[in-house]
Amino acid sequence: FSVGALRVEFSQSVNLEEVEKMNPEVREGGRYAPKDCKALQKVAVIIPFRNREEHLKYWLYYLHPILQRQQLDYGIYVINQAGEETFNRAKLLNIGFEEALKEYDYDCFVFSDVDLIPMDDRNIYKCYSQPRHLSVSMDKFGFRLPYNQYFGGVSALSKEQFVKINGFPNDYWGWGGEDDDIYNRLVFKGMRISRPDAVVGKCRMIRHSRDQKNEPNPQRFDRIARTRETMNSDGLNTLSYKLVKTDKYPLYTKITVDVGSPKK
Ligand code: BGC
Repeated sequence: FSVGALRVEFSQSVNLEEVEKMNPEVREGGRYAPKDCKALQKVAVIIPFRNREEHLKYWLYYLHPILQRQQLDYGIYVINQAGEETFNRAKLLNIGFEEALKEYDYDCFVFSDVDLIPMDDRNIYKCYSQPRHLSVSMDKFGFRLPYNQYFGGVSALSKEQFVKINGFPNDYWGWGGEDDDIYNRLVFKGMRISRPDAVVGKCRMIRHSRDQKNEPNPQRFDRIARTRETMNSDGLNTLSYKLVKTDKYPLYTKITVDVGSPKK
């Protein structure tokens, strides 16, 4: 069942022990499956991460109840970039895909930034016959798409859709462009983006200043222009990283990884 529009605000800080008590059916590692029915999809939620503990608490506080109401069989995977190298969002998402599949037979992957909270629980965190863009109506863009091809924030791809595009690019270091590259990959493989309407798709971003080591990537424009040539040789088939450690917390699984550094 759904309630529709939700109140979402970030004024009081969240205590995770209280969130655990509010969600007694969530199992260790942030796993849940409805007990009175069989979920239609097995969804791994992948969150790229570094030093955003406060945002993650809000995310867990808001999303666990919503995902349970949506009757999904789901798991929460926070993919934490180790070290001080420039942030690499898309590579962390690729790693999340691989690591989640080692644990369970997921058929759908929701890729979510840690600072985005849906404002309507009819925005289902599941996969569709076409790749889904979920964060279509963000407060920071005046509750509109910033441009038609925008695919950033929160998106959902089935395992088949993800494999079809060779996953995401591993070589976008710093802020920007990787979501546009993913959009290009989908279009080049003959897919279209599915979206909720602008009411159901409303969401709030937690305000923050720019992170250290995530400066706008000056190479992004050149790279986006070359997706067609690069997508078959940069992606899931070339993904390499070092697993540093896995921590199972009551509300999520944290996977810390060494993603390496940009090639010179
Ligand atoms: C960047 C994207 C970003 C978007 C909205 C684009 O110029 O390439 O990565 O998501 O702007 O901020």
